[in-house]
Amino acid sequence: MKITGVMVQYYIVCKRELWFFANQINMNYNSDDISIGRHIHEKSYSREKKNINLGDIAFDFVKSGDKDVIYEIKKSSKLEEPVRYQLYYYLWNAKKMGRDVEGMLVYPEEKKREKLILTPEVEKEVEKIIQEIPSIINNPSPPPVIIKPYCKRCTYYELCMV
Ligand code: SF4
Repeated sequence: MKITGVMVQYYIVCKRELWFFANQINMNYNSDDISIGRHIHEKSYSREKKNINLGDIAFDFVKSGDKDVIYEIKKSSKLEEPVRYQLYYYLWNAKKMGRDVEGMLVYPEEKKREKLILTPEVEKEVEKIIQEIPSIINNPSPPPVIIKPYCKRCTYYELCMV
């Protein structure tokens, strides 16, 4: 199974939402609310347009130097933790390809940036995530509901709560 950065984001946001997304449960997108799911979708589409690739992985841009730096540029830090793990996943992939890279998360509108380094601890976490994603997705039923502050804005809220 090809694991994508979007799946890693969903894994961190909500494993049940990951299951709905990966099993292509389509919901009606009429609501004006900005759902976590839609936010992730939009990000992934805008990335595809930029089309800067390292193997199977596409991202915002890379700065070459003594150490290459993979940049992720985001509008808001609302999904900071999921985005962090998405970038860690890219760094992990780059390392597997023999590239020594660092990550930089940039939030221009908030004048904020964060450098990310793949430590051995983070590497283990990423490997655990990669192992768990296929077993979550391939399960015949979704993981149980765990209520979170943003559930009411989730694309799958109605489906999830019935
Ligand atoms: S409503 Fe909450 S528990 Fe259900 S899929 Fe969405 S985020 Fe996850």
